[in-house]
Order: sequence, then structure tokens, then C-alpha cells
Amino acid sequence: MVTRVNFVKNSLKWLILFLVLVLAPLFLAAVGHSGENRGFLIEFGVAIGFIGLAMMGLQFVLTARYSKIGAPFGLDELLQFHGQMGYIAWGFIIGHFIILFVADLEYLKFLDPTVNLPRAVALIGVIIAITALVATTYWREKMGIIYEWWRASHGVLALFVVFVGTVHILQVGYYISELWQQITWAGLSLAAMGMLIHNRVWRPMKMRKKPWRVSSVKQEVDGIWSIEFEPDGHPGLDFTAGQFVWVTFGNSPFSLQQHPFTISSSPKKKSIRLTIKELGDFTSEIGNVELGTKAFIEGPYGSFTLSESRSIHSVFIVGGIGITPVVSVLDAMRNRQDQREFTVIYGTPSIELTPFYEELKVYSAELNVKIVHVLENPPEDWQGETGLIDKDVMKRHIPSDFSNCEFFVCGPPPMMDAVETTLNSWGVPIYRVNSERFNIA
Ligand SMILES: Cc1cc2nc3c(=O)[nH]c(=O)nc-3n(C[C@H](O)[C@H](O)[C@H](O)COP(=O)(O)OP(=O)(O)OC[C@H]3O[C@@H](n4cnc5c(N)ncnc54)[C@H](O)[C@@H]3O)c2cc1C
Repeated sequence: MVTRVNFVKNSLKWLILFLVLVLAPLFLAAVGHSGENRGFLIEFGVAIGFIGLAMMGLQFVLTARYSKIGAPFGLDELLQFHGQMGYIAWGFIIGHFIILFVADLEYLKFLDPTVNLPRAVALIGVIIAITALVATTYWREKMGIIYEWWRASHGVLALFVVFVGTVHILQVGYYISELWQQITWAGLSLAAMGMLIHNRVWRPMKMRKKPWRVSSVKQEVDGIWSIEFEPDGHPGLDFTAGQFVWVTFGNSPFSLQQHPFTISSSPKKKSIRLTIKELGDFTSEIGNVELGTKAFIEGPYGSFTLSESRSIHSVFIVGGIGITPVVSVLDAMRNRQDQREFTVIYGTPSIELTPFYEELKVYSAELNVKIVHVLENPPEDWQGETGLIDKDVMKRHIPSDFSNCEFFVCGPPPMMDAVETTLNSWGVPIYRVNSERFNIA
């Protein structure tokens, strides 16, 4: 189990590293600089431009899907941070323009096409691109933008902003004037942009050598399907129960339709099973996938996994399709005869809409696991919990002394918010609460 000391140490390490990298351009600019002092407002405007661009570059690092980067945080936490840093970077970059124009109207010539056409087009393009980045992220659904198109345009717009920003800094050359400074700045920008290219080009190229084939399509309950994949000419995937993968169907891994799903089978098997709920354009067709269909699987990712120590009581509080990591974890525990204490509080609309209802009964007979179903529409003779998972349900099934408990929360956002708020109000430290959000955008 993560201890307070480890959690604080790890979080601080990443936060400090982030701050150092964001502020590094200011040190790079200041070293050996002997130019005139142009007044506070101008220097401040320039400084926030440097910081804003560094933050934009780091966005590629945050989203690069390297499991070691930000290791103590889950994907959703990392992406939430990415989103918030994006808004701040927008503020800094737009602020850079505004402050310089306020300080001296002469700076408006940077946007004047009659002075320098390519420069004006590129810089006006940056203002439009970075504003489009944040607007399409904030209002994507309202604007009716399909997720895949948003994701593709997000990468292209961000590349454009960082590329033009880098060229702009090198061209202005007021602070980054020495050759070594220019090489350092350009090298860092290229490394950041390279991460996006590695993620979207190099990784899919490598995946081409490791295709998978759909070997089974099974309806679990109405609207939820389990798809099984067999490795085609390679040994398969090493993963830990609770982790997720990104899946692409078809003959090429270069597809806009790449979706994340948690593995719902045990790591012991060579095949992997994903259990998918019909939701939008991609998932609503999932039941029609034909046997033998080629697929590409990238991963594994995520840290929604059990601690090594078997003396810890694991408490999963999940709703609907949030059961997928639980069945993988239980299957893995059965394989290694892990008899640790385990509680699952599981909310669903009804027994008929509860995937793995029978499978869960088998686990509760074979393992030291207590499964608590919470049904919104129970059958007449139902003796168990009813309604939604709330404070009272949790109180009845979670030990009052939870000092030995580790919590895992996965399900619809309102359920997750309510559960996290309750755990927080009970004083459960955040490093004991692992959350996996399926709606990351
Ligand atoms: C870590 C993780 C694990 C997940 N595990 C499961 C699982 O085990 N079973 C399951 O049914 N669902 C799971 N999901 C959710 C699943 O990825 C989405 O439901 C699915 O991608 C929706 O696609 P769609 O085009 O059908 O729906 P849409 O209506 O297009 O999208 C609905 C929402 O799903 C998300 N989404 C859509 N496309 C993508 C994409 N390419 N990448 C990331 N998010 C996307 C967005 O938040 C979007 O608003 C998981 C999500 C995450 C982040």
C-alpha cells in the first residue's frame, strides 16, 4: 500500500520537476544576457511568453503515454492536469501578446502583414490555434465535434503552436541569441514534439508487427459485449490485472478510432478479453465485430492495480461497466490463490443488466471476497441493497476502522464523485483512493 511519505515524496518530485522545466527557459534566457532593461511590463510579457511556450511543450510529455512519467498518478489525473495546464498556457501566451501591445504599441507590427507577411500569418495563426485548442476542448460536445476528430486536430494545433513559438523565439533572438542557447531551445522543442510523433507514428508502426485476432464475441447483458482477442504470431501481452489498453480494429494501427478499454480477463491467459458497453459511434457497433477481425492493441497502461501486500483489505466501489477491472483482478487472485480480504460494492440498474452476475458468485464462493450488489430496480424478493451507492450503503459494508483498507473507485462520474466525497469526508487519505475514470475527455 502507498504510504503517506511515499505519496508526498513522489508527488513533490514530479511537481518540482514540472516547475523546473516550466521555468527553465527563464534561466536559459538570463544566462549571459547583457541587453538593456526595457522596463518591467515588457520583460514580464516576454517572460510569460517563454513560460507559456514551455508549458505547451510539456503538454506533449504529459500525454506521451510513457508509463514512468507521472507514475504515482492515474491517466485521468494526468489528463486533468494536462487540461488545466493547457488553459494556463493559453492565458500566458495570449497574455504575452496583450501585455507587449499594452507596454508598447510598436509590438503590433509583429501582427502586421504589410511589415512581414509570413511572420504576421504565423503569429495570428498561433493566436487562433491556441484559442481553438482550448475552446474545442472545453466545448467539444456542445460544438458537436466527434472525439476522434477533436483528438487528431488537438495534436496538429498543438504542434503548430510549439513549432511557430520556437521559430518566433529564435527569430526575435533577444534573449536566445547565443548558438548554444538556440540549440538547447530548439533541441528541447524538438524532443517535446518528437514525443507526439513517437506516440502517434512510431508506436503504431511497431504495433504492425504484433496484430491480434478477434476469437470470440459474447453478449454479457443488453448493451454490453465481451470481445476476446488472440495474439497472431507473437506471445501476447504482459499486464497486471486492473490495467487498460488502447484498441484499434482493422488492417492498420494508424486509425483515428483508437479507444481505451480495461482488460477484463486474467493476466495468466494468452488471450485477452475486453468488456465493452455500447455508448457512441464506435462502441455501439461492437457487437457486430466479426470473428477473425484484425486488431492492434497498445499497452498496457494504468495503475488501477492491487498492492503487493496480501494483508491489505481491498475495497472496490464500482458501478455499471466499472466492473471490468474487478473481474480481471478477481480472476488473477483466483489463479494465484490470493485469499486477501476483498469487498466489492457494485451498483447496477437491475440483475438483468448486471454483467458477470454469475461469474461474481463463483468468485465469492472461492475467494475471501464479499460482493454487495446495489440494484436500482430489484426483483420483488430481493433482500440486498437497493437504490444508488451512497454514504449509508458504504457505511454498512466498509469496516469502520479503514486504516488497513485500500479503495478503488470506478463507474459513472456522479457515482465516483459521490463516493470520493464520502471517503474524503471520512478522512480517508487520497493516496488510499485509486480512481479510474472512463470519461477522460
Ligand atoms: C482508462 C479507461 C478505461 C476504460 N475501460 C472501459 C471498459 O473496460 N469498458 C467500456 O465499455 N469502456 C471503457 N472505457 C470507456 C471507453 O473508452 C469509451 O466508452 C469509448 O471510447 C467510447 O467511444 P464511442 O466512440 O463509442 O463513444 P463516444 O460517444 O464517441 O464517446 C463517449 C465518450 O467516451 C470517451 N471517448 C470516446 N472516444 C475515445 C477515445 N478514442 N479515447 C478515449 N476516450 C474516448 C470520451 O470521453 C467521449 O466523450 C474506458 C475509458 C478509459 C479512459
